Amino acid sequence: MKFCSECAHPVALAIPEGDNRPRYVCAQCSAIHYQNPKLVVGSVPVWEQDGPLKVLLCRRAIEPRYGYWTLPAGFMENEETTGQAAVRETEEEAGARIELGSLFTLLNVAQVHQVHLFYLARLLDLDFEAGVESLEVRLFAESEIPWDELAFPTIRKTLELFFEDRTRMREGGVHGFYSHDIVRPMRSAGA
Ligand code: ZN
Repeated sequence: MKFCSECAHPVALAIPEGDNRPRYVCAQCSAIHYQNPKLVVGSVPVWEQDGPLKVLLCRRAIEPRYGYWTLPAGFMENEETTGQAAVRETEEEAGARIELGSLFTLLNVAQVHQVHLFYLARLLDLDFEAGVESLEVRLFAESEIPWDELAFPTIRKTLELFFEDRTRMREGGVHGFYSHDIVRPMRSAGA
């Protein structure tokens, strides 16, 4: 952040009185600009009506990670619930209509100031199509998942947990809810 959103004066990092960490503070109007993590919300859309279970993935048409596969997900908007965000993102990125299930994963990505939430979901039909942020959208059986071409660690973690649960469900288990902290290794110099 460079300029105050209240008065357009340049801001500077400072620890406000009574606080314990640096904030962007405006010397002109005294506004303190707090920055907090963003929520990324998505779904695990599943189709299993005619044959083995398949999961819907989207190939990204935008940076970061252009060309890599992801579950439909995106930043939550103001005035919506997390469930509404999951349904909306699935519609926007995959052109897919879903029946939302329960919350499945909560993944802290503290290094990039994000929390990712994924809901279980059932595809209502096969009339999906790539939205403007996707190059293509298709169904993958477990054996077809492009593990080396997944866009983000939270996508990999959610899919791993999903298929582990499915294995347990064949023995009578049910889907659980999982919370994990994603910690990326620090990049070495020049990497
Ligand atoms: Zn200001």
